[in-house]
Amino acid sequence: MATTSGDSGPMREERSGGIRGSTETWTVLRLIEWSSRYLAERGFEECRLHVEYLLGHVLGLSRLDLYLQFDRPLKPHELESFKEFFRRRLTHEPLQYILGEATFMGFTLEVDRTVLIPRPETEILVELAVAFARELRRPRLAILDIGTGSGNIAVAMGHFLPESLILSVDKDPEALSLARRNIGRHALRNVTAEKVDILVADPPGNTYDLIISNPPYIAARDFADLQPEVRLFEPRAALTDEDDGLTFMRRLILLARTRLSGGGRLFLEIGFGQAGAVGKLLAAAGFDEITISDDYSHIPRVVQAQAPEPGKGTS
Ligand code: GLN
Repeated sequence: MATTSGDSGPMREERSGGIRGSTETWTVLRLIEWSSRYLAERGFEECRLHVEYLLGHVLGLSRLDLYLQFDRPLKPHELESFKEFFRRRLTHEPLQYILGEATFMGFTLEVDRTVLIPRPETEILVELAVAFARELRRPRLAILDIGTGSGNIAVAMGHFLPESLILSVDKDPEALSLARRNIGRHALRNVTAEKVDILVADPPGNTYDLIISNPPYIAARDFADLQPEVRLFEPRAALTDEDDGLTFMRRLILLARTRLSGGGRLFLEIGFGQAGAVGKLLAAAGFDEITISDDYSHIPRVVQAQAPEPGKGTS
């Protein structure tokens, strides 16, 4: 795996020998090749792909259209805009924040630095939850999404389960407005978003058939090891509980114990090495059918567990 090159002034070289002023003719292809190499030499990954996305964004072209216009010369203002985006990427700002968009389960979502960028692992969480919800065959399924961020989980669940009612909550007002925009963008009338700080307050409503969350599960001691894209740019409160990484697991399991309907299920995304501890917490709280699923890298990533029927299990 490539590492970052510890280069203290990446744009210094650019000024002396790279994308110079407006007098030089930069074609689409030349700019893609030069910029990809520049990133690759500094240890960035997926360089060409990212450069193509950035340039496509500047020119209002898809990546395919870029390929059809390799010889197109860039106008000075286009080059300036590209350089602006490219500089941001060089500071390790994630591509999705620069583009203002991310894709989750095929849905295009607005993102900014107030929310976590949706991850492919979380798609596994949603797929498993949707499969369970469909099997449950209950009309008007009530679903609670805790820590909605960009609203990614709520948008996907709302779309795939049109008969369900989904309440998504987050403690951050800025994240909530963004989630609401994403819900509106996908015209989901069965999804709402409300402000709740789950560590200090209970969500509204009565019981839910399904509770789902991708909580901040990075332990405080592991935070410094995160890659710069994550550590320097994504919201810290969406990543870590500033403790052992299990604060939200404990809270959500206890909450689910009282707020899941009989036979309802809790779905949690978990961090590396947390499966054992979370499984134990669930068992201690009386949950049944505790199942752990791996992510694409074969790391246990999703835990689901069934609430006991009322009157059964521990009290
Ligand atoms: N629900 C969002 C996601 O799954 C945000 C999660 C978070 O902020 N921890 O990406």
